[in-house]
Amino acid sequence: MEESYFKNKVVLVTGASRGIGRAIAESLSLLGARVVANYNKSEKEVTELVDTLKRKNCSIEAYRADVTNGKEVEKMVDFITEKYQEIDILVNNAGLKKDTFLAMMSDEDWEDVIDVNLKSVYNVTKWVSRVMIRQRKGKIISISSLSALRGLPGQANYAAAKGGVISFTRVVARELGRFGIQVNALAPGFIETEMLQSMNKESLEELIQGIPLGRVGTAQDIVGAVLFLASDRADYITGQTILIDGGLGI
Ligand code: NAP
Repeated sequence: MEESYFKNKVVLVTGASRGIGRAIAESLSLLGARVVANYNKSEKEVTELVDTLKRKNCSIEAYRADVTNGKEVEKMVDFITEKYQEIDILVNNAGLKKDTFLAMMSDEDWEDVIDVNLKSVYNVTKWVSRVMIRQRKGKIISISSLSALRGLPGQANYAAAKGGVISFTRVVARELGRFGIQVNALAPGFIETEMLQSMNKESLEELIQGIPLGRVGTAQDIVGAVLFLASDRADYITGQTILIDGGLGI
């Protein structure tokens, strides 16, 4: 892909204050895109990211919105279109895990996880797709998970939400295809972020032994696939989910 491809592209990354979303926002911004880094609670972290990148003359700004809240999302999308008139790339990345066996799961644990991982994708994609339909182009990438396909105990809420993201992607890819919009998902395996730190050391070592590539993934492993799907090299790919899991899901 041409290095200059992302220059001035308008990008919205949800959940960009930490982990994978932060790495995606940083990379796109370093490649010249105009990035809106959405966050909800981690203001200090996102401010630090934005300040660091601005010192490198990047175009990036933070925007606080709870992506589970349709009204806040609508306002965020209005803010972006008023300022930049377009949105070229959307990365639905915000996520939350609250693992518990089903018999012990509270309604709140179920709803929070469904809302942050699935309702958010509905909210943000709905408002952004209206902009992309008008401009007759756009790339939408949503972060699902290998958990959607593996049935890991303790993740009924998370797997249901992430499975929903895959099904949603397939439907929306069909709906938006004729407007020149590609809609795809990524399904990471185990990636080194705060989300993974909740796992105990022994289970993690056991898990690594089962990964054909012999290591957990890094946020940069996900960035590579985002850059590909968000570029013109992937113009004929839509409705797909790419596993980035070191082979764990084989
Ligand atoms: P993380 O480090 O826990 O970061 C989660 C991000 O989501 C934070 O920036 C957080 O922002 C944001 N977020 C949470 N609730 C939000 C809300 N209501 N509104 C807006 N933003 C919200 O997670 P990660 O490991 O980078 O994961 C990123 C994505 O990859 C998630 O969708 C996750 O499910 C998926 N994934 C991760 C792994 C893994 O092993 N790490 C594997 C498969 C899939 P604030 O802190 O500002 O609220």
